[in-house]
Amino acid sequence: MKRFAALNNSSDRIGFLLRYPEAYNLSLDTDNQVLKSSEKARQLKDIGNKYFGRGEFRKALELYSNAVLMAPREELGVILANRSATLYYLELHKYALIDAEEAIRVGYPKELFYKIQERRAKCLLGLKKHAEAMAAFRNALKALDDTKLCVEKKQKFESNIRIMLAVMERGNQIAQKTTKLPQKKSLEKSVEPKKLTLKIEDCNPLYPACSKAVEIRDDGGDIGRHAVATKNIEPGEILVIEKPHCALLLAEYRLTHCHFCLARIFAPLPAACNICCCVAYCSLRCRDADAKVHQNECVLLPTLWSSNTSITCFLALRAVTQRPFDELIQLKDKLKTSKGRFDVTVHKPHRGQDFEAFYGMITHENERTTKDLFHRTYIAMWLLRLLKKGPYFPENVKTPDTVEAKPSEGELYIGGLILHSLMLLQFNAHEISELTMSRSDKTLSKAKSIFIGGGLYPTVSLFNHSCNPGIIRYFVGTTMVVRAIRSIAPGEEISENYGPIFTRSPEVERKRILRWQYWFDCRCEACSAHWPLLDEIDPTMLRFKCDTGPACGNVLLIRSDTNEFMVKCSKCGNNTNILKGLKALQDTDVLFKSASRYLEEGKNLDALKAYLEILKILDDTLALPIRDYHLCQQGVRLCMLTLGNSAYI
Ligand SMILES: [Zn+2]
Ligand SMILES: [Zn+2]
Ligand SMILES: [Zn+2]
Ligand SMILES: [Zn+2]
Repeated sequence: MKRFAALNNSSDRIGFLLRYPEAYNLSLDTDNQVLKSSEKARQLKDIGNKYFGRGEFRKALELYSNAVLMAPREELGVILANRSATLYYLELHKYALIDAEEAIRVGYPKELFYKIQERRAKCLLGLKKHAEAMAAFRNALKALDDTKLCVEKKQKFESNIRIMLAVMERGNQIAQKTTKLPQKKSLEKSVEPKKLTLKIEDCNPLYPACSKAVEIRDDGGDIGRHAVATKNIEPGEILVIEKPHCALLLAEYRLTHCHFCLARIFAPLPAACNICCCVAYCSLRCRDADAKVHQNECVLLPTLWSSNTSITCFLALRAVTQRPFDELIQLKDKLKTSKGRFDVTVHKPHRGQDFEAFYGMITHENERTTKDLFHRTYIAMWLLRLLKKGPYFPENVKTPDTVEAKPSEGELYIGGLILHSLMLLQFNAHEISELTMSRSDKTLSKAKSIFIGGGLYPTVSLFNHSCNPGIIRYFVGTTMVVRAIRSIAPGEEISENYGPIFTRSPEVERKRILRWQYWFDCRCEACSAHWPLLDEIDPTMLRFKCDTGPACGNVLLIRSDTNEFMVKCSKCGNNTNILKGLKALQDTDVLFKSASRYLEEGKNLDALKAYLEILKILDDTLALPIRDYHLCQQGVRLCMLTLGNSAYI
């Protein structure tokens, strides 16, 4: 332990542990449950066929989907084709088409080709792509040469298609003469995932994920880097839109959500690999985008998931392995000297995607105990050994996984990066959420925000914590959207919330959690002024801001049944007319009622607008904490969550 304590960098720590035979006791074995199996796939497909035969297409779809994930490549074509038929009957032409085409791509028996081409054609027809549909019908005719059908059946199929083609040709001629008919709405729209291109319009050139209303300052010491408002920020304003440096789905959602974009999946597509069956994608686009990273992860995913390691471990690994070894090795010297901290300039802005921005996040490495470091090194070393199982390391870098073999410099470097990531993830990881709503209830009364994954957002991580935060976050896919949840004056800090919030948890509890998890003593306004919990806020006392403004900053405490309208400030001596504040309370009361009504009617966006308006009005004259204000913030939060990942279940 003494010798370990004397080490001062992550790579050396990893190398130290790898010299002990005990380091190799931790198993790297894979659980067979998560490997592809043709037997299981076939069983699922057969049950699916039965449902299909009975016309129970939804049930058939579910079974085929499970079979699709389970099937090795040789068997995938037929199962995809069956699912394609099911989707076709469900009138989900777009999905049916994708499956048909994917079936052809992965390999489909030649003698049955005519069938799949015909399905393609019909799907294209359903999608109103007439020219492509006609080409597909012609392909189907051509494919008849390879069939083993009897002459009679063959002729029947052929004549059907020829009739179809003739009808379409005539249709084309008519269509050219008439105007287009409006397209009818189909079921397809309702299962289509929301695709939004989210981007900050007018961004801070130094921190492009932030809007110009946000400035990042560095005061060093306890405060460190933090966000400050450059102008008056109104409740609801979008302040940051950030893509994750890396993100990951929780294991329990691996078959219901996309492994890449974390969207709920309708018809899951398996990984491009031929090994695992424990990840699914919502689309070919996501699968292909993830293919390179998956190739490195595939061999370790099953082990990681079956070993119940926390998502943090996995994220640490992914942060490193999502970049090729060669790219990381080139950064080696730079990271050593800069420690990931660099002068942010217009030419070198702080981008969350850059490895340096990621590497520069806080780790508290020097404040850690030897025991803590040892524990994390042990995990990092195990992750490194797992990584060596896969194709990540080039052959000239990779060494055998034994105590006798001396690990290469490249391996130790990567091991060191994994350890570094583990340390920074402890303080910087964010939970990615999804709002689940009840299918039977159109209001949000049964809505629940669930935690579906984790991600690293290097820009948002620069924001400090407050138990009375200025922002709220929601997620669109893995992209984080940060919006103001109260008015923020220029020069005022814009703070995030790391978990404990003053309305719900008592000060002692909040401080304990923050110290334990994030290693700091909270000195936010709620903590410093010992604000009561939401339920304990005295409704008979009103809190007015002194009319002098921020220059005074005093709060005037007045009983709600007061008869006086001019109140003298004990700090600056000026008089404040509280009539405006009383009027604001009346106005917001009306707005609050209409917001509640909107919520009941399921008009969430109208409710959101009303809630934001209330916050704005109250911010003008009253000082926090105000019971109704924080209730209203809860309303804002709920309504905003519907703009992000959400699902009816
Ligand atoms: Zn996806
Ligand atoms: Zn795989
Ligand atoms: Zn606090
Ligand atoms: Zn004053």
